[in-house]
Amino acid sequence: MNVYLDNAATTSVAPEVIQAMVPVLTEMFGNPSSSHAVGRRSRVIIEQSRRSVAAHMHCHPSSIYFTSGGTEADNLALRSAVRDLGCTRIITSEAEHSAVIKTAKSLERSAGVQLDLVRHESDGQVDLVHLGELLALPGKAIVSLMHANNEVAIVQDLDRIGKICREAGALFHSDTVQTMCHYAFDLSTLPVDFITCSAHKFHGPKGIGFLYIRQGLQLGGQIEGGSQERAVRGGTESTHNIVGLTRAMRLAYDDLDAHVLHVRSLKKRMVDGLNAHFPDVRFNGNSDQPDRLYTVLNVSFPPHPKSGMALFLLDLEGVACSGGSACSSGATLGSHVLRALNYHDSDRASLRFSFGRYNTEEEVDYALEAIKRVFAPVK
Ligand code: PLP
Repeated sequence: MNVYLDNAATTSVAPEVIQAMVPVLTEMFGNPSSSHAVGRRSRVIIEQSRRSVAAHMHCHPSSIYFTSGGTEADNLALRSAVRDLGCTRIITSEAEHSAVIKTAKSLERSAGVQLDLVRHESDGQVDLVHLGELLALPGKAIVSLMHANNEVAIVQDLDRIGKICREAGALFHSDTVQTMCHYAFDLSTLPVDFITCSAHKFHGPKGIGFLYIRQGLQLGGQIEGGSQERAVRGGTESTHNIVGLTRAMRLAYDDLDAHVLHVRSLKKRMVDGLNAHFPDVRFNGNSDQPDRLYTVLNVSFPPHPKSGMALFLLDLEGVACSGGSACSSGATLGSHVLRALNYHDSDRASLRFSFGRYNTEEEVDYALEAIKRVFAPVK
């Protein structure tokens, strides 16, 4: 049996999404910038998609800028805030995805931006008192803090953080890649300036996402070229991918309640199975708790001689999971997030299991048996 429990790294493309994309690839191939009928048809499809995405987000369609995914959207937000919106400071956290933390560090080096890293409480929540202190320092800031951490499932209160930023006159960007289409968003009330999306995290295609930019913020272009995406992001639009993202989003939000129930129950089954078998198991970031990101469980296994090989051995058993984020798994340094939040323990293997729409109870049971074999007592 093969069991895929790495849905936070990426998901399979839903059959309905493939079905929606095929006619765009085969028949509606026009360049959306062409003035003839074939091109105009593509333009219509893109603008219909933008309206559909905006309706799900409760924002104006002109706030949605399609990008190649989450990494580009994160880069676009931070780089534009510095280049076009007068930000001289970035406040973020060591526990952010590398798309944010590396961009912030690069802007510190290349643009002389002052970079401050906010502390976390012992439960992983952002230390809001420290955030307030950092915001009181001089210079216009952009705060970049993710909604849910992709490794340890800690969910931040975007409403609270956004209000603190607004009061201090700072911009607020949140990497919502792991929560988009897993939680509802109402951008008519949520105090954010930028949020990001990546379709391959919710059964859409890879290579497509978007940046939401609050209306009124005027960005220059980051990718120079044509005037696509209102000249913010040049390059011929990926019409089939935009259609795929939009279909995947509709699928997700049409069925959100059932999806949450299903995935939560799978995660609970895994937690119960692990607790029953391993008395000293721990869950990094308390990722077993109900208020954490329900798709992600980060397990710290008791010390075992095979700890260092656990990911590999589970792979041999047909179970795909991760040792950190997809970008860092396999790296000898381990996860930068576990280290930043003080969960790193070199004696214990930390594995991330992430659940999705197509996983079943049988798969979780199979994974539990495989885990027991890998971590079986050594005689
Ligand atoms: N941000 C987070 C929290 C992620 O988990 C990921 C993907 O791993 C990204 C950003 C990057 O998204 P993409 O793969 O679309 O570039």
